[in-house]
Amino acid sequence: MSTSGFDQVLGQDEAVALLKASVANPVHAYLFTGPRGSGRRLAALAFARALLCPQGGCGTCRHCQLSDTSSHPDLVVVRRTGATLSVEDLRRAATLAQRRPLEAARQVVLIEDLHLATRSAPALLKTLEEPPPTTVFLLLTDDVPPELVTIASRCVEVPFSPLRPSVVASYLEADGIDPERARTIARSSGGNLDRAQLLVADPSFGARLELWRSVPRRLDGYGATAAALARELIAATDAAVAPMKAAHEAELARLTEEAEAMGERSLPGKKDLTDAHARAERRFRADELRAGLGVLQRTYANVLAESLEPGPGGLVRVEDLRHCDQAITAITTAARKMRHNPSELLWLEALLLELSALSLAA
Ligand SMILES: [Zn+2]
Repeated sequence: MSTSGFDQVLGQDEAVALLKASVANPVHAYLFTGPRGSGRRLAALAFARALLCPQGGCGTCRHCQLSDTSSHPDLVVVRRTGATLSVEDLRRAATLAQRRPLEAARQVVLIEDLHLATRSAPALLKTLEEPPPTTVFLLLTDDVPPELVTIASRCVEVPFSPLRPSVVASYLEADGIDPERARTIARSSGGNLDRAQLLVADPSFGARLELWRSVPRRLDGYGATAAALARELIAATDAAVAPMKAAHEAELARLTEEAEAMGERSLPGKKDLTDAHARAERRFRADELRAGLGVLQRTYANVLAESLEPGPGGLVRVEDLRHCDQAITAITTAARKMRHNPSELLWLEALLLELSALSLAA
């Protein structure tokens, strides 16, 4: 059975179609852009396998088997050795790129985390401009900062967008997660498979969901209650980010130790790495809050659906309908403003106050 073919890449039909169409006659460099957890890396590995297989990725030949076990000698994966992709890392990639393929008709050089090469990128430029005819570069990047625009202009871009929740759910179900839990996690994943897998392993995820769901029934019209609830939700978000923060700190400590053992006084490229960590943590927080707002909105939508059923007196409570409808709109507006609002606590408190006033009016 194939383990790294294109059939493993779900929900990225355009990217996969572009790659499949390129197998027979590839250009010398492809830039895979898009968020982590979008299937970007899986797609790059499937493409690499197809490029190394004489039949374009049959899944059964020796080349495909070697690719599937990450042991094909002509698939070279370049990862950063320190905080960032250093000039040395990229020089190593450039040197490897000059090599003749050992077993296949060509070789594939896959470089990860190119967004961490903002200073070193020029070291790769010359090779990208005059590449050996038997080498294909696959470059993976979260985004294209200004320093990488020149590199990007030498590549065919293969864009990836966040996955649809149904696609994330299919991945999780294939991993043995039960369908209902898979759907719940997928809805909170923000289309990011990495985040979904973090949530699978996060024992407090269920409690956070419940906390967001409890908001409508806990709001009582008092400002103090809304403020306390906002603080509680922010504290839960802090707790959710804590494992990622700890992993980042551990990585930094390990790299610093390695650098010191090599006689460096400090970790080269430290600031670029801590910046990247901070960006990842901010993204995670924003995903968390956005997912929470989604849960809150669905809670109101459920109340709305229930109030459309006539009650015991045969009447639909119009005030419930209006209140829920306005609440849903208020949450949409808050989610949109979230990005531009530096103080999470302030906008969340403002939203909860608004929801509280609505419930009082109903
Ligand atoms: Zn094959």
